[in-house]
Amino acid sequence: MKLLEEKIRKEGYVLGKDILKVDAFLNHQVDVEFMEKIGEEFHRLFKEEGITRILTIEASGIAVACMASRYFKLPVVYAKKYPSYVPDNDVYQSEVYSFTKKTSYNIRVSKKYIKENDRVLIIDDFLANGKAAAGLVDVVRQAGATVAGVGIVIEKGFQPGRKTIEDMGIRVESLAIVESMETGNIIFK
Ligand code: 5GP
Repeated sequence: MKLLEEKIRKEGYVLGKDILKVDAFLNHQVDVEFMEKIGEEFHRLFKEEGITRILTIEASGIAVACMASRYFKLPVVYAKKYPSYVPDNDVYQSEVYSFTKKTSYNIRVSKKYIKENDRVLIIDDFLANGKAAAGLVDVVRQAGATVAGVGIVIEKGFQPGRKTIEDMGIRVESLAIVESMETGNIIFK
């Protein structure tokens, strides 16, 4: 998506070797008008897939998934990852290793919000090693539901996330694929 590549070039910056910061429009401040176009693009890509539910993960996936839901007219479910003091045992859980935090955490989705006959579109902001997306796939499959696809805003193509998810037999669509990046020079595929 050309518009997204331009936005990343203009407002994003590279941290260290492999972190791309897009806090200006996605991960801290949210450019809602721009993100609407992202939602529309996900709808264009997946509208034939008979999606019944959109699943994402807190926190940054929520804004993206909500934008897509405006076009699909479907509810968004987000996996919780922050510990809660309100116990809920009726959940599907999966362990996810965080690329940015270098630690593992459990994601949880209430059994109320994914059902066996669902065709789920998984949406997230970034695809790096594919751990977050794989955890979401695991949760959907525990429910006996089907993953209809994975939609990603920014894929770092030099990391193995796409292969991890495609090896699970799942279609992956990314709106921008970063082939390489260093300060001041982001190259897209
Ligand atoms: P993965 O599980 O694919 O290794 O990493 C994906 C998750 O880590 C995303 O949900 C995202 O929150 C975070 N992440 C991975 N790489 C980046 C990055 O370069 N920039 C930002 N802002 N988040 C990232």
